[in-house]
Amino acid sequence: MKIIPYGRQHITEEDINAVVITLNSDFLTQGPQIGEFEKNFAKYVGSNYAVAVSNGTAALHLCTMALNVKPGDKVITTPITFAASANCVRYCGGEVIFADIDPNTYLLDINAVKQVIEKDTSGNIKGIIPVDFAGRAVDIKAFRKLADEYGLWIIEDACHAPGGAYKYKAEEYNICGNGQFCDLAIFSFHPVKHIAAGEGGMITTNNKELYHRLNLLRTHGITKQEDLLNENHGAWYYEMHELGYNYRLTDFQAALGNSQLKRAEDGLKRRREIAKFYLEAFKDKPFIYGQSGVVEGHAYHLYIIEAEKRKELYDYLRSKQIFAQIHYIPLHLMPYYKKFGWEKGDLPNAEKYYSRCISLPMYPTLSSEEQGYVIDCIFEFYDNLP
Ligand SMILES: *Cc1c(COP(=O)(O)O)cnc(C)c1O
Repeated sequence: MKIIPYGRQHITEEDINAVVITLNSDFLTQGPQIGEFEKNFAKYVGSNYAVAVSNGTAALHLCTMALNVKPGDKVITTPITFAASANCVRYCGGEVIFADIDPNTYLLDINAVKQVIEKDTSGNIKGIIPVDFAGRAVDIKAFRKLADEYGLWIIEDACHAPGGAYKYKAEEYNICGNGQFCDLAIFSFHPVKHIAAGEGGMITTNNKELYHRLNLLRTHGITKQEDLLNENHGAWYYEMHELGYNYRLTDFQAALGNSQLKRAEDGLKRRREIAKFYLEAFKDKPFIYGQSGVVEGHAYHLYIIEAEKRKELYDYLRSKQIFAQIHYIPLHLMPYYKKFGWEKGDLPNAEKYYSRCISLPMYPTLSSEEQGYVIDCIFEFYDNLP
């Protein structure tokens, strides 16, 4: 029996051919595929600009750099996310303030964020990093309103939600990372994410100045753009204006990303079918306390349930070759963040969620038979409880 993971990439012949074509071309990095990918991705999410980078973490780091995060600055984010959403603040020496989640949506609770801001007397809170966790869009418009009241910036971590949207009314929705309400948004092309490029990331924005700054920081802070140069010694001449990094994506990764992007909508459709099937199967089952449900616009990077006897269920599924996963261990309880004074009990909603959550297999190539087997194994586990 082959292993059923919680998520996996889908590579087609077409994807492989796209990479091979680029490998046979004159460009391995910084070629035409990068610009194509940026253009296509911006179009997909509806932003004015996109900057391709080496991975999602690099995207987050460039964002905090471009927004001038410095030691003493405080930034608010959720504890239920991948470490990089918070770490990007630390890369610039800033302080991470975790605010609790909404127990129904599992997303950063805007009221908790408001409380943190109102309680703070330092005046050092600079920004908010909401996460479209599991693929469910945050109400970014509401976050914008709050941020504007206090002069804060927003980085939307949309790694889980390319193609996802927040639905306000029947005809009114906001696509994740479209830059309408956030200053910057970021995506990842790690193989477990919707669009795989091996490694890779993207920053989207509608802000022209930030866009130029990100381009500079992506390649060492070096520019050849004539109108930006202080001097000019000839065609070879360039200047380094800031301390940047090499966070470039390669052209063959961009070729893979481009090819995958063409199938993004099909993948989303299949993810939503799978979610619906799980929802039906677990409806009214007393051992399942909560599940994401079918939410319009949800991109279903993950399908999470809150389950009784979670650890035993996890182990049982593993014995059946089903590798479910836990997303996430609350970040404020990581030994690294505890060093800053965070402790158990600080964020009760996040901690309670963590004690019961489990992410079930969710990826476009998961077959109906495989999903049926996963569901059967879950029922089997609860039927056989002493
Ligand atoms: C995957 C992920 C990242 C980091 O992306 P990488 O490409 O792995 O560096 C950041 N935030 C969230 C929420 C993620 O899921």
